[in-house]
Amino acid sequence: MSEHKGNVRIITLGCAKNEVDSEEIAGVLRQAGHSVDGSQSADVTIINTCGFLESAKHESIAAIKKAVAEKGGGKVIVAGCLAQRMGAELARLAPGADGYVGVGQMGNFHQVVQSVFGRTEPLIDVEPPHHKWADVTTRARTGRPWSAYLKVSEGCDHRCTFCTIPSFRGNHASKPIERVLEEARQLARTGCKEINLIAQDVTQYGYDLYKEFTLPKLLHQLAEVDGIEWIRILYFYPNRLTDEVIEAIATQPKVCNYIDIPLQHAHPETLRRMKRPWDGDRYLKLFEKVRASIPDVAIRTTFIVGFPGETQSEFNHLIDFVQAAKLDRVGAFQFSREPGTPSHDMPGQVPSRTKKERYDRLMRAQTPISLAKNKALVGQTISVLVDEVKDGWMAGRSYRDAPEIDGWVYAQGNVLSGSFAKVTITEAQEHDLVGHLSGFTPAQNPRMIPLQMVTREPR
Ligand code: SF4
Repeated sequence: MSEHKGNVRIITLGCAKNEVDSEEIAGVLRQAGHSVDGSQSADVTIINTCGFLESAKHESIAAIKKAVAEKGGGKVIVAGCLAQRMGAELARLAPGADGYVGVGQMGNFHQVVQSVFGRTEPLIDVEPPHHKWADVTTRARTGRPWSAYLKVSEGCDHRCTFCTIPSFRGNHASKPIERVLEEARQLARTGCKEINLIAQDVTQYGYDLYKEFTLPKLLHQLAEVDGIEWIRILYFYPNRLTDEVIEAIATQPKVCNYIDIPLQHAHPETLRRMKRPWDGDRYLKLFEKVRASIPDVAIRTTFIVGFPGETQSEFNHLIDFVQAAKLDRVGAFQFSREPGTPSHDMPGQVPSRTKKERYDRLMRAQTPISLAKNKALVGQTISVLVDEVKDGWMAGRSYRDAPEIDGWVYAQGNVLSGSFAKVTITEAQEHDLVGHLSGFTPAQNPRMIPLQMVTREPR
């Protein structure tokens, strides 16, 4: 039978890790001779779903139903976390797709596409979580060529009681260091200047392969890659932000002085119920140490409010912690009761209204802190990677700003996107900064890769 090589569209839902998976699927398919151009008339539509929270599940199911309704004579394949999490149940809840495949299939997508042609029943292949990143380093990039996510591992060895991820992504599995370095070199060759290392817990990197926490070594070796100017690390686990990691950040100029460390809470009892390490006092000591070694560090965290059993006094303790820690950026989620997690059945579920009130109070407590941190930058000249230029204004990010999550630095001036600009800050808001352009290093012909290859749904 002849091979099917078609025109493929990929719709990505969820987080940056899914974005990388979609780019890997697109890379695999392009290598096998398919065209991946994102057009509506594609004969194969792949939906890379998110299954992290109930709200994401509903969004993914809606996207599947829409694609099935529009598929005509084409094929629809559902991939990713929700397919892995729900398997055959997803085929019942959102029927009509031609395939439902789990997270271990990224490298096999050519075969997956072959198998959905010529069969009448949908393909359901959601083996127990196993991780195999696509073993090709030719990701079909989406997004801005000068900034990329680089996934260093899959899965997670922790078992936080609110989290669904280990149940469908399995235990932590690192990419070999040579593989990560090769991917970084490839990204650099296509004009990438900022690499954002991602993993569920990047501090665990390498342990499964090398029996030691290998993040510091990885950072030192990545810093040698020509063309990469910024290396940003996303998602530290609190008790593994070791002296070696801090030292690597402090001493390698290319590693951004930026720490994204989800703490989830600060009260010892809430953290114990969450099965999370340490407590607010130890976190404060850790930040003291980090700030002593990296004086201009920007620290971001996220908290969960309304976790089961969170008393008013536990929540007040969290507010006190926020005021004491004076972190640069704080995000928060209202606890989501996820089926299959231990916290789903814990006593003391907090009413929605209380969760909302606590969320608002937490964000209000952080506002003046974030504003003061930004105001302290007024008068300073900082390096900014320009992401957009419009109507004579540029918008970019400093080392303090991760893509898609933190603020912007605005300045007037016509600078090529992908350039590094020097901006002297004149005005500060809670999230964003405004300044004037005091110089720039022009972009060195970043290879403009078609951006529409993989469709990203707005969050
Ligand atoms: S460390 Fe993160 S991914 Fe791992 S179980 Fe906890 S919340 Fe989930």
